[in-house]
Amino acid sequence: MSTTGSILIFSAPSGSGKSTIINHLLELGLPLEFSISATSRKPRGEEQDGKEYYFLTTEEFRKRIDEDKFVEYEEVYSGCYYGTLWSEVERIKNKGNVIVFDVDVVGGLNLKKIFKDDALTIFIQPPSIEELRRRLIGRGTDSMEKIEQRVAKAAIELEKSKDFDRIVVNDDLQKALKDAEEVVRGFISTEK
Ligand code: ADP
Ligand code: 5GP
Repeated sequence: MSTTGSILIFSAPSGSGKSTIINHLLELGLPLEFSISATSRKPRGEEQDGKEYYFLTTEEFRKRIDEDKFVEYEEVYSGCYYGTLWSEVERIKNKGNVIVFDVDVVGGLNLKKIFKDDALTIFIQPPSIEELRRRLIGRGTDSMEKIEQRVAKAAIELEKSKDFDRIVVNDDLQKALKDAEEVVRGFISTEK
């Protein structure tokens, strides 16, 4: 079985539990590899360059835009760029692993347009906007201003869930982990 060219795209409003679910999936011993995005935002908490993100200055990020180095990029929040580098896609593809993307909703749908049937899009849905806010506050990594920015964006993002191939509701975490695992195992087993 070769899984070269296979792509899993996870999108959700910030705070839905996307990172929690992806981290669980990456620990299952499946041939999955996380696509490390580039961002111009500052590292948060314990984040390390080259692990969660490639941290760039805004100037460095813009230079790579001019050089056409991105598969897709966006100013996800005002003043903060995020993007997927072609070099990252090639790196993972060359190892024969399934690429796992953690991108915002617009980015996820853009990647699907590029990779088409090679990609499965999965929307992680929070139980409500209020719960999303509670989770972001509970995570304790963002200022209230940043949290409100994320919550405001979430309402628009939730409307796009219907454009995704699969929806995993993250209310009860154990159930969401199990559902996500089922989706991923199903996807991998259908790959030629
Ligand atoms: P995202 O990557 O989508 O921004 P995270 O995975 O960082 O979200 O989750 C946001 C916060 O919510 C974290 O503190 C996480 O531990 C918590 N969390 C995740 N899933 C659940 C859940 N089902 N119930 C309660 N808290 C959750
Ligand atoms: P955070 O700042 O919480 O790490 O991420 C904020 C948002 O940016 C999340 O929704 C995350 O999925 C998204 N994101 C991370 N990397 C990329 C990327 O390469 N492209 C796009 N479009 N969004 C990204």
